[in-house]
Amino acid sequence: MKNLKTVIKSISVVALSVLLFQCNMSCKDIPKKDGADTTAKVDTQKEGASTSTEKTLLAIFAHPDDELTVAPILAKYVDEGVKVYLVIATDGRYGTNEHSGLKAGDGLAAIRRAEMQCSADHLGVELLHLEYHDQLRSAEGYDGHMPHIKSLMKEVHSIIDTMQPDAIITFGPDGWSNHMDHRLVGATVTQVVLSQLWTKPLNLYYVGTPSDLLDDPEIKILRGQDRSYLTYKVTYTDEQREQAYNVLACHKSQFGEDALERMKARDTYKEKAVYLRKFAHPVGLKNSVFE
Ligand SMILES: [Zn+2]
Repeated sequence: MKNLKTVIKSISVVALSVLLFQCNMSCKDIPKKDGADTTAKVDTQKEGASTSTEKTLLAIFAHPDDELTVAPILAKYVDEGVKVYLVIATDGRYGTNEHSGLKAGDGLAAIRRAEMQCSADHLGVELLHLEYHDQLRSAEGYDGHMPHIKSLMKEVHSIIDTMQPDAIITFGPDGWSNHMDHRLVGATVTQVVLSQLWTKPLNLYYVGTPSDLLDDPEIKILRGQDRSYLTYKVTYTDEQREQAYNVLACHKSQFGEDALERMKARDTYKEKAVYLRKFAHPVGLKNSVFE
C-alpha cells in the first residue's frame, strides 16, 4: 500500500516542484509513515499561492472513474482558479467487465492507475491516488479489513490536515451506486471531518441524485434524494461537459463504446448540473430530539 509520501510523489513533477519551491517556513511536514526517510512538503497557508483568496477543493472518492460523478464541476473550479485535489482511495483491481475482458489483479490496477492519471490531466486537477486495496480488504474479514480502513481514515486525516481545504466533496450514504467502497469512503471522510474543529471553516458536500430523475421506485429508495435536501445545484459549461466526456474516454478498461451515449443521455448531463447536499453543522446544544 502506498503511503502519503509515495502518493505525493505521484503528483506531477512540475506541480510538485512548484509546491516545493513555494514551500518555506509556513509549510507543514506531511507525517512520515512506514520508515519514510524523506518528507514532502505542501504549502498549507497559501501565502505563496497566486492570490490570497485562492480556494482549495478536495474531491475524495473510492475508485478510478468515480470522479465522473462530479467531473464537470472539478473542471469548472479549475477554470475559476481553485486548487483542486482529487483523492482516489483504492487501486480498482477488481474492476472487471465483459467489454475489456481484463483479469482482476495487479495488471488491472496498473492500467487503472494510468487511466486515473489521464483523467486528472484532462481535468487539470492534482491526483492523490492512495491505492488501497480494492474493496478495502473486506474479503479478508474483520482482521483484514479493519486495519486497512483505519489506515485509510488516518491518511485522509493527514491529507485534510495538510491541504486545509475550503470544501470537500465525497459520496453520501447512497454511495451513488450503493457500492460498499463508495459508502465507506464517504463515511470515512465524514468521520474524519467530524473528528475535530478545523482551523479554517470546512464545508462538506455529498454528491447526490434527485429521486425524481430515477424511474424505478426501488432505485429511488436505494440511491435517490428528495430535491429539498439537494440545496446545491452547481452548473457548468458545454466546454466543461466536454472535459468530462474526455475523462470517460480515459477509463477504457471500464467503459465500452456505448458508454458515452449513455452518459450524454443522463438528465444531469443534459441539465449541465451536479447536485450536492451540504453536511449540516448546527450551532448550539439542544436538550430534546424534538427541538
Ligand atoms: Zn466506484
